Amino acid sequence: MRLGCIADDFTGATDLANNLVRSGMRVVQAMGTPAQPLDADTDAVVIALKSRTLPKEEAIAQSLAALHWLQTQGAEQIYFKYCSTFDSTVHGNIGPVTEALMDALADLPGSDFTIATPAFPDNQRTVFKGHLFVGDVLLNESGMQNHPLTPMTDANLVRVLQAQCCRKVGLIDYKVVAQGEAVIRARIEQLRAQGVNVAVVDAISNDNLIRLGPALKDMPLVTAGSGVAIGLPANFGIVPSRAASALPAATGLKAVVSGSCSLATNRQVMAFIQAGLPALGIDPLQIATQESTGVNVVADALAWAEPLLAKGPVLIYSSADATAVKSVQGMLGVEMAGALVERTLAAIARGLVDLGVRQLVLAGGETSGACVQALAITQMRIGPQIDPGVPWCHAQTEVTSHEGLHLTLKSGNFGTDDFFCKAFTMLA
Ligand code: ADP
Repeated sequence: MRLGCIADDFTGATDLANNLVRSGMRVVQAMGTPAQPLDADTDAVVIALKSRTLPKEEAIAQSLAALHWLQTQGAEQIYFKYCSTFDSTVHGNIGPVTEALMDALADLPGSDFTIATPAFPDNQRTVFKGHLFVGDVLLNESGMQNHPLTPMTDANLVRVLQAQCCRKVGLIDYKVVAQGEAVIRARIEQLRAQGVNVAVVDAISNDNLIRLGPALKDMPLVTAGSGVAIGLPANFGIVPSRAASALPAATGLKAVVSGSCSLATNRQVMAFIQAGLPALGIDPLQIATQESTGVNVVADALAWAEPLLAKGPVLIYSSADATAVKSVQGMLGVEMAGALVERTLAAIARGLVDLGVRQLVLAGGETSGACVQALAITQMRIGPQIDPGVPWCHAQTEVTSHEGLHLTLKSGNFGTDDFFCKAFTMLA
């Protein structure tokens, strides 16, 4: 294994794996830290944690356990992956996990310095003068200021990360990055001399990321969104190839389960409905009251889906706009609302697979994590990209027989409006 990666959520892990595959690496994504040694021939392993919104001590403990496993498997470099919208709370977990990993790697030369950049220009995430843009607007105007769990209200990443770190945070700006390896390395030395240990790095184009790659060659730890990954495989002599993304042929019924309330997902839900395809909305308040009302939301959803599945894809969603989400959170509490919906959608995803679904689109980072856990998926091979950051994957599960399950884990703000339909067309 060349690259050992730790991702703070499930869709984020897939997003990173996708970029590595596109750059020629064969990649396996593991759901949580494996209990066993790696049994696949691969260039990189991405360990998907669900640590983004955990209490920071727990996020650190899980990340260190992942690091330990990756090191015992021979990983030559560690990549800590977080969201391209830098999803975190005021206290973490990006800063605290980064520093814990740096501490754990302290014996290795160069481990006193790392970078931090969520830039992913292919997906309209650019960092300019340390400020994160989502498309044409600053992070804090992108809709992310209303995220149910990690509202992002400041686009200045140096300031955001500094608030989460004990180490000093600095900036490597786009003018430095554009000049390539030697100038970037010189800037790192300059920052080191100033007592800076973590540098936010600007990137406004793929070219910036490609130029950044060689400067990261000997860095024991890289922290980033998925974008930086496009510049790393070349450091190991790996070049892009189609073979890296090969998956088995797809079979079986098709379904989408969406618990993301991000703007892009809401548009995708709308597009699916407007295409005349069957869609069922799940009401969080109905879930919260089902014990007293006798309603069984999961059973009702599966009963609705069963006769429709033979005709084509169905969608089951809790996705809602910011006003509706706020109102539900006001009544149930943020965590309770999130957990109730996640648990319900996960049980629905499991039920759909029991009904014969073998092509499953999951929308939402936390949602995908819960669904994948309910399906007892421990490992996925990463296949071809549907949209930037979102590949089809293939997993063996205890529920399916030898044919396994094709699934894709779509992060909230990723994908074009027609993503749900496009995904199935592409797989066919
Ligand atoms: P994204 O990738 O868009 O951030 P996630 O699945 O990570 O999506 O996060 C969305 C969170 O919002 C989850 O915890 C989910 O359970 C919760 N959620 C989903 N639908 C609703 C809703 N209608 N009201 C309140 N919370 C919701």
